[in-house]
Amino acid sequence: MLVRYRDGMNESPPADVADVLAAVLNTDNPVHVALRRQVPHLSVRARCTCGCGTAYFDLDTSDVEPAPTSPSTVVAAEAQLVTEAGECPGEVLVSTQDGYLAWLEVCSWSDDIEVTLAAARHWLQTRS
Ligand SMILES: [Zn+2]
Repeated sequence: MLVRYRDGMNESPPADVADVLAAVLNTDNPVHVALRRQVPHLSVRARCTCGCGTAYFDLDTSDVEPAPTSPSTVVAAEAQLVTEAGECPGEVLVSTQDGYLAWLEVCSWSDDIEVTLAAARHWLQTRS
């Protein structure tokens, strides 16, 4: 089930989404460069209601250039999450459709460690 936001409520991505995208799209790879330029134009259309923080995007494609990915849906970027204790409880995946940011998925592999977008943001920002 998804939480839907009213049109116009979110003109730019919330800070948690923007920070995680910045951490994951952090290379000079042309795909990452193009996707970083799309982030300011992004809004969150819906979020997974289980609390994981997985977010589905809306993007006005008239404002931005598509990334040079293959057409269709691909995982354009991913980052493994590593806790302070060195455990790997999950990962975040950034998917694109036709070169445009489509959704950010927070995946949990752990039964003991809660993996959310907020936790992912913390772990990505504290990694060395
Ligand atoms: Zn979820």
